[in-house]
Amino acid sequence: MDCLFCKIVAGEIPSTKVYEDEFVLAFKDINPMAPVHILVIPKQHIADSAADITPENSAAIAHIFEIIAKIAKEQGLDNGFRVVTNSGEDALQTVSHIHFHILGGKKMQEKLA
Ligand code: AMP
Ligand code: ZN
Repeated sequence: MDCLFCKIVAGEIPSTKVYEDEFVLAFKDINPMAPVHILVIPKQHIADSAADITPENSAAIAHIFEIIAKIAKEQGLDNGFRVVTNSGEDALQTVSHIHFHILGGKKMQEKLA
């Protein structure tokens, strides 16, 4: 499969890793929108987007959210942070391998969209 994030997991494309375990990889976004901008992905291509979350893969998604909490603490985001997942065309998703943006280190804007 020609998937950018699968290539990052495979080490074919370099990334700045922030966290890694058997199931999850987190790395810095190449085009940061906040002082802290980290992408958290399942290593396996279990879903293209949040639209594909099912009872079969939701445990992996729950694990990702545990890791998000851990990374937020490690990054010192004690004053808050945002978790964003873009799903599909209207959300301007550009990489079809489910991923969660952690955004923090500044006061966010009120508007989400
Ligand atoms: P989305 O638009 O939600 O699909 O998010 C995709 C994100 O991947 C964007 O924020 C990009 O800046 C980021 N991105 C694209 N290529 C890379 C890369 N090689 N390394 C790190 N982040 C990337
Ligand atoms: Zn993939």
